[in-house]
Amino acid sequence: MVMMAISIFFSGIVYRLAVNELNRSGNDQSILFNNLSDISPGSREQFTESNDTHLREAKKRVFIGLLVTNIIIMVGAGLLSYYLAKQTLEPIEESHQALERFTADASHELRTPIAVMQSEIEVALMDPKLSIKEAKELLHSNLEELERLTTLSDGLLHLARLEKNDMQLENIENIENIEIVSRAVSTVKNRAQEKKISIKLKISDKAIIRADQSLLTEAFVTLLDNAIKYSSKKSTIYIASRNLVRKVEITITDKGPGIDTRDIPYIFDRFYRADRARSKHKIAGYGLGLAIAKSIIELHAGHIKVVSKIGKGSTFSVILPQHGKLLR
Ligand code: ADP
Repeated sequence: MVMMAISIFFSGIVYRLAVNELNRSGNDQSILFNNLSDISPGSREQFTESNDTHLREAKKRVFIGLLVTNIIIMVGAGLLSYYLAKQTLEPIEESHQALERFTADASHELRTPIAVMQSEIEVALMDPKLSIKEAKELLHSNLEELERLTTLSDGLLHLARLEKNDMQLENIENIENIEIVSRAVSTVKNRAQEKKISIKLKISDKAIIRADQSLLTEAFVTLLDNAIKYSSKKSTIYIASRNLVRKVEITITDKGPGIDTRDIPYIFDRFYRADRARSKHKIAGYGLGLAIAKSIIELHAGHIKVVSKIGKGSTFSVILPQHGKLLR
């Protein structure tokens, strides 16, 4: 609209100037012609008439020229504004869609345990002969659902705090890579033993990371937990650490089911669970673990990626900045 208003304003000025100029040159020509002595009155009339016609046509041409120019500017400006508006609105639309997806997923995950508890209680209340044993079973089942709800709401709160842009690392200190990895391994040791899974460490280089120890350990625990959860019994999980230029790369490799290439771009999204895990194996989880781990790693100025092949296994790599000497 602004471009159009400017264009119309200047077109008006150009038209006015052009008309004045045409009138002036028409008048000059008439005066010149009328001053010639050997011209008959008939020719004078003919000249004035043709001069007026030329003037009218010239004005018409100027008007049409300006009109066409304005139409081109209007269409061009319209297309340009549409393109720019689309470019600006796309990220807003994407984040809006992500928020909608998140709200829908969160409500679904929260509703499921509530619906289970409600129906169990309703059925129990309708039974006039409900025994103490049955009532206890019901309470146990309700407790399990409440635990699920607590885990879920804790996860959501944790994620919300991590994703807050102004979140600062509170207990930041210099820690060795081996220490972080060992803490994470000892946390998951029992779960690995239950499935007779062995965890092998290969720390090629020593590295110092500035980190909030418990937070960063939590990220590695999530990755190890997933490796255990999705691997079959008696398999092996490998953890390696090597130094890159000013960075350290810690990898966790499992020989589990792998992740479909179509799922890989989304597995770090909140609530995303690859179909394989959801439908075939029925492995417990909410799809929040990797989203939390990614937020923690990014909070430490690092990044996480995965290489995976269906049937072969997955390797999650965490790349973190390395810091100077160990201060103790
Ligand atoms: P959850 O494990 O609770 O489903 P996560 O956010 O930790 O949620 O993981 C998201 C999805 O990524 C999982 O549902 C699973 O499909 C896939 N995934 C994560 N780690 C692995 C792994 N080591 N092997 C195979 N699939 C994995």
